[in-house]
Amino acid sequence: MSGPAFDRYGGNTICIEVRCGDEVLFFDAGTGIIQAGISLMSQTTRKLSLFLTHCHYDHIQGLPFFVPLHKPDMAVSIASAHMEGRMTTRQIIEGLMQPPFFPVGPNIFKAAVRYDDFMPGDVLEPAAGIVMRTGRLHHPGGSTGYRIEFAGRVVAIITDTEHTPGELDTNVLELIADADLFLYDSAYCDEEMQKYSGFGHSSWQHAIRLAEAANVKDIGLLHHSLLHADDDLDRIARLACERFPRAHVVKDAQIFDV
Ligand SMILES: [Zn+2]
Ligand SMILES: [Zn+2]
Repeated sequence: MSGPAFDRYGGNTICIEVRCGDEVLFFDAGTGIIQAGISLMSQTTRKLSLFLTHCHYDHIQGLPFFVPLHKPDMAVSIASAHMEGRMTTRQIIEGLMQPPFFPVGPNIFKAAVRYDDFMPGDVLEPAAGIVMRTGRLHHPGGSTGYRIEFAGRVVAIITDTEHTPGELDTNVLELIADADLFLYDSAYCDEEMQKYSGFGHSSWQHAIRLAEAANVKDIGLLHHSLLHADDDLDRIARLACERFPRAHVVKDAQIFDV
């Protein structure tokens, strides 16, 4: 989204960058990755790992414009699990970047690109000292949740996923247990869930229910609905903070120091 009604929270689609010491991890390649890539090129980093939650357009449409992929001195690994063997990560990217949807294929990338595949539930070690647990989420076509553990801190990224009213997803509870920062798909409010049943998204109220059950410290509400403009998100932020003081409605380019 763009325009004055979206100025304060931003209108990019999803991309999360996680720094663990010198290691750079990216999660999803929505339009947010474009600016992140430009800013990365003014830094010394020459190696990064990108993990996809899944490959719906809002999570991959920034990838062809991710500058590090076009630099010969960069090493980029791209990994996904949600297709569970039915399609590889390489096939996903080749599918995105082909005529008539896009003029050129991923063979134009100048970086050393490695494509990896894993299964939801696998435990990964993207770099020394970083343990990453993964799990299957509830979303049409599948989606993968991530729990990143580094230097005694935990960040959990849970999007896109839909909850069953009255239930707490045990996969999600395991991934977010005692997390310092829990980022969660809060596309809707509880009052909207019935209308959007089956769309594969959750609510800010459910983020709080999960956080309370799992002893989470800070919540970042993200993946905002296209229909929630700045004023709506302000209202959600106010209501969420009344119930969980360390709930944050995430803004574009917001930084959390965990
Ligand atoms: Zn999706
Ligand atoms: Zn999405």
